[in-house]
Amino acid sequence: MKFYKRKFIKIIGFSTLALLLPIKVILAAGKKIINPNLSKEQKNIMFNEGTERPFTSELLKEKRKGFYHCANCGNKLFASTTKFDSGTGWPSFSEALPGAFKTKIDKSFGMERVEYHCAKCGVHHGHVFNDGPKESGKRFCNNGLCLIFKPE
Ligand SMILES: [Zn+2]
Repeated sequence: MKFYKRKFIKIIGFSTLALLLPIKVILAAGKKIINPNLSKEQKNIMFNEGTERPFTSELLKEKRKGFYHCANCGNKLFASTTKFDSGTGWPSFSEALPGAFKTKIDKSFGMERVEYHCAKCGVHHGHVFNDGPKESGKRFCNNGLCLIFKPE
């Protein structure tokens, strides 16, 4: 009798713990902070799928030749030749480098959007839309704070 009671308490205790854990914490478990110098705002975007305020990124006016890397792990994501001015207020690209990202369907805010994240470290970068101006037809809408530009 005593044995059963203990087991029962154990099961209850475990499921309560699982319920208390916010879903976002569970989802974020696969992502790791690699760059210890990330700001609070960068972490909010990368780990909580936040969005930076539009027209705030320094990268909007970046026109030099080079590559855009993940600010967390350094993974090479975009070539400057695919960058374009979408007028949305976020750095925009018509194509990502092969294998740079993985995607998932994001149903937050009553919309169905395709979220993409770094294939190497898993952090959130932005959303990809099918209204791009170039042959690919894609528009990668990327938070500037998730990117580091390295000129060639
Ligand atoms: Zn990364």
